[in-house]
Amino acid sequence: MASEDPNPDSDSDPHQAPTLALKQALCFSCWDVSSNLNRCSACKRVSYCSAKCQKQDWNRNHKKICKKLVALNKQKGYVPSAGRQWNDYYDEQELDLGSGNRNPSELRIFVGYVHSPVTDENRSPTSLGTITIYEPYCYHCYRRESQLEDGAKLNACQYCLLTSFCPSCQQTHPSAECSTLQDIAADDKIIVDLRRRTGKSSTFSPTKFPRKQHFLLSSAKDWYDYYTRLSDMGGFRSKMNRDLKYLANDPEERKLVEYMRCGTNTTTIQLTLIAALEAVIPNISTRGSINIHIIGAAGAEFNSVPAFEELLHFLPSLTALQLSFVGLNVLEDLKHDTETQNPHTLQCCTTCTKMGRTISITTWRGPYHAYVDTEFYKTPDLAAAFRSGFSVDEEEDWYPTIKYLAHAPHPTLLTAARYFEIQGEMGVWKNLGAEFVKNAEVNKWKGMSPSLTVCGDKPNEVVYRNYWWYIVKQR
Ligand SMILES: [Zn+2]
Ligand SMILES: [Zn+2]
Ligand SMILES: [Zn+2]
Ligand SMILES: [Zn+2]
Ligand SMILES: [Zn+2]
Repeated sequence: MASEDPNPDSDSDPHQAPTLALKQALCFSCWDVSSNLNRCSACKRVSYCSAKCQKQDWNRNHKKICKKLVALNKQKGYVPSAGRQWNDYYDEQELDLGSGNRNPSELRIFVGYVHSPVTDENRSPTSLGTITIYEPYCYHCYRRESQLEDGAKLNACQYCLLTSFCPSCQQTHPSAECSTLQDIAADDKIIVDLRRRTGKSSTFSPTKFPRKQHFLLSSAKDWYDYYTRLSDMGGFRSKMNRDLKYLANDPEERKLVEYMRCGTNTTTIQLTLIAALEAVIPNISTRGSINIHIIGAAGAEFNSVPAFEELLHFLPSLTALQLSFVGLNVLEDLKHDTETQNPHTLQCCTTCTKMGRTISITTWRGPYHAYVDTEFYKTPDLAAAFRSGFSVDEEEDWYPTIKYLAHAPHPTLLTAARYFEIQGEMGVWKNLGAEFVKNAEVNKWKGMSPSLTVCGDKPNEVVYRNYWWYIVKQR
């Protein structure tokens, strides 16, 4: 079943279908918005804008899973709407996925929004599990369409498109929640658009020119402050609010602001790193070189590589930034030789290049505690593990590394999306006798674009990237 399991960390798969497509609000093949979508008449789980698109997806992937989806539609138990609870819907999903050997927490951290579709050729086939887990259901009675009486249909919320209602229930959901889901829909459209125009898988709005003067990031209150005061988007000061919502009427500007908000999901990595460096290096404003290790690096970290130049632009004295990506998911095809550890040099802007400033990257595939024993290891100023989830997922893989980090010769930054992960992590650190430079708290530099959690504690629960952060002290 491994190949049919939903990826528990879909954010790290750059080739997955957008949430809107999984919720049948976009053509499942070309991801176009169309008012005229037709569903696969057999399974009714995916929609297409044209016969051509349907055929394309059939050949690419759908023929392998359609029959199984039809079988799932038939097999479903029926709990009458009056007595139905969120848990009934939730438990049925686990049943569908054959979760006998599955850790339920894996499902709980499975988040929906995927940042990085790439090209038609390298799109991941959407698994049976992913389609099942995103199946629309009535927001109020938690029934799926195959559980409604007399072939009744679900209606999607006309504003967010990501919530559905059956004909017997109220046709609304709370407006604040709808507004958050509209952000997810807007981000999906941005990413589809970006992929079409550039083939790129993520976006960010960098500071264009290196700063001449150093400002502490901790002096900024939030992303709005960062963009309008510390970066170079000052022109937008009166045109967006602190949640990076556009307030004026120009469609082009609106798009730019939406890109800015969406970009925070990439740059959350770099800004959280800068904030951590400020917390652990007292003379950060005069440092010429910094060495950072990214532990457990995967899709999100690699997608954000170009945004590391933000560290050069933000720290005027920094001339050499060394990055090492280490982890079990580290790609082997990054353009350099992993055997000799000849670093790959990131192409920087003309100004940085002229000044001789450099960002060098090495990668090493394997667990971090093994990396420290290699000849390539050099004690970093800071190590970081973004959304490791070590207390809920792959605990055995992580434990020796965590044990090492509890008393390592450097501080380590860690982040998590959800509070229960933080609780679990604190328990582990406590047992290991670790101390903290910074205790767990809400991260000012969390991603501002939400992701839909499909198996949360309630419908339409969302999470934000790197929402929590803390720093473990060096020994
Ligand atoms: Zn289409
Ligand atoms: Zn089908
Ligand atoms: Zn209903
Ligand atoms: Zn809505
Ligand atoms: Zn530059």
